[in-house]
Amino acid sequence: MENLWAQSLKRLERIVDMLGLDGGMFKYLSVPRKIQEVAVPVEMDSGKMDVFSGYRVIHSINRGPAKGGIRYHPQVDLDEIKALALLMSLKCAIANLPFGGAKGGVSVDPAKLSARELERLTRRYTFELIPTIGPEKDIPAPDVGTNAQVMAWIMDTYSIDKGYAVPGVVTGKPIALGGSQGREEATSRGCVYCILSALKILNYDKPCITVAVQGFGNVGSYAAMIMHDLGFRVVALSDVYGAIANPKGIDPHKVGQQVKKTGTLDRYPEAESIPRDSLFSVDCDILIPAALENQITGDNAPDIKAKIIAEGANAPTTQEADEILASKDVFIIPDILANSGGVTVSYFEWVQGNYAYFWSKRKVDITLREIMDKAFEEVYSIHKDKKVSMRDAAHQIAVGKIVEAVKLRGIYP
Ligand code: NAD
Repeated sequence: MENLWAQSLKRLERIVDMLGLDGGMFKYLSVPRKIQEVAVPVEMDSGKMDVFSGYRVIHSINRGPAKGGIRYHPQVDLDEIKALALLMSLKCAIANLPFGGAKGGVSVDPAKLSARELERLTRRYTFELIPTIGPEKDIPAPDVGTNAQVMAWIMDTYSIDKGYAVPGVVTGKPIALGGSQGREEATSRGCVYCILSALKILNYDKPCITVAVQGFGNVGSYAAMIMHDLGFRVVALSDVYGAIANPKGIDPHKVGQQVKKTGTLDRYPEAESIPRDSLFSVDCDILIPAALENQITGDNAPDIKAKIIAEGANAPTTQEADEILASKDVFIIPDILANSGGVTVSYFEWVQGNYAYFWSKRKVDITLREIMDKAFEEVYSIHKDKKVSMRDAAHQIAVGKIVEAVKLRGIYP
């Protein structure tokens, strides 16, 4: 399988072609603005030293400061971060946020580190990034393997270096440090709003609509809980250790309690344990991939029974799988639309921080819904008018907005 960066460039080239833009624009968009690769030495609790590789890629700042998460995962490498940074530029454009795109990561398994080791790793990595991050430059946020606590350490390290508190350097912070209400579940809530729009537009209605979710981390767990609370029936869930299914329904809140205690949903007593990767073939109406990239492939796409796929994860579907799913008439809500709720509430957090005036959860949710509904409508209408896939429609809109900014600003000098 081609790596994510190679896949992303192919898609970008196709979109640039579809929009009738010249090859120079493809070249412009395919070269990230700034790439940093840093060594992250950490003194482990044993007293021994270990060294990890860290990255931060700023893909674009044409529409505003760069914005994007930080991932801690053993598979992190430069190409993955470049691809995810490009996706962030597109995602911010789709949601019409005044940001460019960036992504960062450290190649590490955070589950194998103690809390103190994780803190030392985070602070050293942040220290290396101090010259290029900042509320007006590049604003990190959580992604796979990182959370509000990691954001608090980043904010503290940056602030101590500057000599004053700079909460706006990150989003996804704890509320006690200037975080936003609703940020933690924002990606999932935005994804659910897209699903509700899709069900309405497709006239998809039946007495019991069923859902399967891959991944039970930040995005997957909240997506499952919100869908359950709205009356959908969650029939299968998975995490990196295993999968569970029950056609009569699973209560994700109860699963969450087990995960808090044992670290996994595997062997949850009120559902059957099934092989992890058979989650995709479970009988359901809606599938939410919310783990990692390249999960839905040419091998498993033929077995998918869902009618709607809402991509909570970034790039979960390969090009080959996309074609198979299109031939089966599966309605795909693409990642840059479906999971843009997270960066949207990050934007609210940045705005609230700039004003030092904080919104109620209700206001966050209502404003998020307005933005998600508008973005969905825009993508759906291009999908219908131009007879292109939802993914191509989303990419066309996003690339179009970035190109407009590039042209208006011109090239200096
Ligand atoms: P997370 O680390 O909180 O959770 C990841 C989950 O995926 C874990 O439950 C893990 O066990 C599971 N997982 C890993 N490999 C798996 C596999 N092969 N099969 C089944 N489960 C597996 O990460 P997250 O923040 O929830 O992010 C998930 C995805 O959503 C990523 O693609 C991320 O880039 C994307 N995303 C996250 C946010 C955010 O705000 N956190 C925003 C937009 C997009």
